[in-house]
This record gives sequence, structure tokens and C-alpha cells, in this order.
Amino acid sequence: MTKKANESISASLLRRYTIHEAGHAVACVLLGRRLQYIELRVGRNGPEGHVICGQHPNLDPRRACDKVHARRMIEREVKIAWAGLAAEELFYERRDLDGLDDDAAMIDALLKRLERDRGRREDLGAHLLGQCRRLMCDYRAGIRCVATQLAARRSLVCSEVREMVL
Ligand SMILES: [Zn+2]
Repeated sequence: MTKKANESISASLLRRYTIHEAGHAVACVLLGRRLQYIELRVGRNGPEGHVICGQHPNLDPRRACDKVHARRMIEREVKIAWAGLAAEELFYERRDLDGLDDDAAMIDALLKRLERDRGRREDLGAHLLGQCRRLMCDYRAGIRCVATQLAARRSLVCSEVREMVL
């Protein structure tokens, strides 16, 4: 493979990472989750993205005094976790939701706190993914803007993301 081909592959992979992280960040901002910053690092093993949020609220609905609130908080976490993949899907028309990181494992763990029954858990997961996809679709322009800025500046704080989205 020529050097030029290598470079163009890494540029397109980088773009995909920025779209993925922008999806998480935009969902955070829209759903009222405390976002500290997002960043993109490019190391020897390729790009690596992070979305750094504030601390989780207490997320065990069985122990929480306000079970409805706890459920809502977990559902919000699930939607934010779906958002990276949903943004990739939106921009790349991917249907397999084959992600860049371990979001699927986290989504599964969160859903297990909400539903023990496997069928109901899958239904809930699909329902929350549907809501997340609509959110990504409605804020497509904001995601693109955040991704472009992330590629250029490598890190963005919450207020910068908010300004581009809201
Ligand atoms: Zn992710």
C-alpha cells in the first residue's frame, strides 16, 4: 500500500472517530448530562476518543429511594452510550452498528439494571436506540460541526459543544 493510501485511510478513520465522539457529546448536552470535555488523541495505535462526563448519579433502581428517577437516569446513560454508534450510522449509513469501542458492553450492563427479563430488556434497548437515532437525526448539523472542530482542535469543553448544538 502506498503512503498516500495509508494517509487517506487514517484521515477517514479519524473522521469516523470524531463523528462517534461528537455523537456522545451532543447527546450529553441535549439530555442534560454534565459534560466536562471531549478529546481525540492520535497515538501509535491509531486514534482514541474520550467523552469525559461528571460523576454518575446513584444508578441502582432497586436501592434508590426515587425508583422512577433512577430508571430515567439509567435510560439517559443508555441513550448517551448509543449515541456514538447512532451518529456513525447516520453519517456512514451503517446498519450493523459495529462500534469503535466497548459501548455495546456498557449498554448491556446498564440495561440489565433495568430489566432482568431478556425479551423485555431487548425491547427497551431497541426503544432507547430509536429515541437516540431520532435525536442524532434532528441534530445532524450540530454533530457535524462538533466533529469538525474536534478534528481541528483535538479537545472541546462543554460550553463550546453547547454553543455549536443549542
Ligand atoms: Zn463510544
